[in-house]
Amino acid sequence: MFKSLNPFRALQNAPSPQSMLKAHPVVTFQDPLHQQMALQVEHCYQIAESKLGRCFPRPEIGFMLRGKSAGTAHLQLNKLRFNPKLLNDNQQAFLDDVIPHEICHLLAFQLYGRVKPHGREWQSLMQSLYGRVPRTTHSFDTRAVEGKTFEYRCQCGPIKLSIRRHNKVIRGETQYRCRRCGQQLRAEPRIPPR
Ligand SMILES: [Zn+2]
Ligand SMILES: [Zn+2]
Repeated sequence: MFKSLNPFRALQNAPSPQSMLKAHPVVTFQDPLHQQMALQVEHCYQIAESKLGRCFPRPEIGFMLRGKSAGTAHLQLNKLRFNPKLLNDNQQAFLDDVIPHEICHLLAFQLYGRVKPHGREWQSLMQSLYGRVPRTTHSFDTRAVEGKTFEYRCQCGPIKLSIRRHNKVIRGETQYRCRRCGQQLRAEPRIPPR
């Protein structure tokens, strides 16, 4: 389901060396916000290329990421994936922070190979290319993308279990204990319907 933004693929049949110097074609996305993201990715690559004085293959871009992560970078595949729900709710932060963050992972891999994901190389790219504070976590509200949870309780108070854990308890596969008090978590009794 990924649309290709890889310029080398698009330019494969273009023999003229001049055409390699022209702007990279940006694949069109139907969703205007996704399109804006693709243009911002291209913009960030152009900054990287002019500051570092070399070319980088453009990544494929997808918007199929689920869960609580804002984005991921697949280093070997040269792919970026973004979380469409979190994007919708945090558009400016994605353009300003998430895109540079993920691109710097790809650039660090292209430049230095396998290095620590948020190590020195990545941090210095974030600062020198995009002037961004190299933060490793986002603070978006993830309630909308969290799965259904179930109320449990220990003596410390109520606690939520994911549906996956809840099902394990129901099937008798495991029990969970509170890390603080050590008490076994018990399902919160439902209020009986009248
Ligand atoms: Zn990261
Ligand atoms: Zn407890």
